[in-house]
Amino acid sequence: MTTTSSTTASSILPSELEDLVALFDVRGTDDPTPDADREAALQAPKFGTVFSDHMARITWRQADGWLDRRIEKYGPLQLDPAAAVLHYAQEIFEGMKAYRHDDGSVWTFRPEANAARFARSAHRLALPALSIDDFVGSVAALVRTDVDWVPSGEDSSLYLRPFMFASETFLGVRPAAEVEYLVIASPVGPYFAGGVRPVSIWVDEDYHRSGPGGTGDAKCGGNYAASLLPQLLAQEKGCDQVCFLDATTNTHLEELGGMNVFVVMADGSVHTPELTGSILEGVTRSSILQLVGDRGRDVVERRIPLAEIVQGLADGTVREIFACGTAAVVTPVGRLAGSTFDHAVAGGEPGELTMDIRHELTDVQYGRAADRHGWMRRLA
Ligand SMILES: *Cc1c(COP(=O)(O)O)cnc(C)c1O
Repeated sequence: MTTTSSTTASSILPSELEDLVALFDVRGTDDPTPDADREAALQAPKFGTVFSDHMARITWRQADGWLDRRIEKYGPLQLDPAAAVLHYAQEIFEGMKAYRHDDGSVWTFRPEANAARFARSAHRLALPALSIDDFVGSVAALVRTDVDWVPSGEDSSLYLRPFMFASETFLGVRPAAEVEYLVIASPVGPYFAGGVRPVSIWVDEDYHRSGPGGTGDAKCGGNYAASLLPQLLAQEKGCDQVCFLDATTNTHLEELGGMNVFVVMADGSVHTPELTGSILEGVTRSSILQLVGDRGRDVVERRIPLAEIVQGLADGTVREIFACGTAAVVTPVGRLAGSTFDHAVAGGEPGELTMDIRHELTDVQYGRAADRHGWMRRLA
């Protein structure tokens, strides 16, 4: 098996998965969504608005560790107004998908990589580490319970959202002694209704989502909070998404609010900003580095000056730009704009390599192509 960079984590065998799932006590809902309503909800779900009948949950107490692994009815949480997370944002999350293959089986993609990243995020936010086993076990237990919620349409999936937060009732500033971990699931249709469409990107020179020594390489809600105003301002400039620069020099590309970024050069090489500590290491990013390398192309992780890309768009040395992440997979960029420049990318059309890589990755995820790297895990 070939793997890349620090997203590598030892893989869980199917036989082990049975034991991990068995640790979860299934307390099923007494009023599941009627089949007809669920089928209607699966038809054209709007991202993040519809949720399955159950959620996975584990509670942590400083004195006892992780307790009470369970699958319970999806529903509101009871939180004291003084719950630490509401004040100091001690919270992390993950994003993954369950894919239904043509034979009806249900799979997920590189869950151990998400589990390992979740543990790194927990460390940075002074939250307790959840084991890789409990992370993968909780996701599998929830998907098995709510397997009928995994849609089967093209580019549809069950989006999985594991998260952990400080639930302790305490306004003092220190790591919480009580923490909740949950996984919720939401059916999602194609990210691009009506086909993949290139997005426009505003490069922000005024705000940063993270800085050296900050939380940029942890997947925490606070990073997203910091990205919302710049995202709003980008939209006011007529762009779909914002791209951030590094906080030290304000001259190098980092990433979007929730997606990594790649540049394809006219010489065929593929470049992405190197992980400097303020960029989130995407599982999609690492998988694309592998797939592009497999094609015999040069793949380069380096600091990428914005000026070089702007010049390259003007003189043709930059061919394609794309963004990537679990939710949208691979998104072509059709326009890159900033305070002093505004360029079409690839003539405003989806780039050729961009779309090739998108298809290659989704073919593996949906079981239409061989899983050469052992990335897929069967859940049900
Ligand atoms: C989640 C996320 C990504 C994409 O990561 P994937 O593992 O590919 O989904 C990129 N950037 C940020 C800031 C993120 O939070």
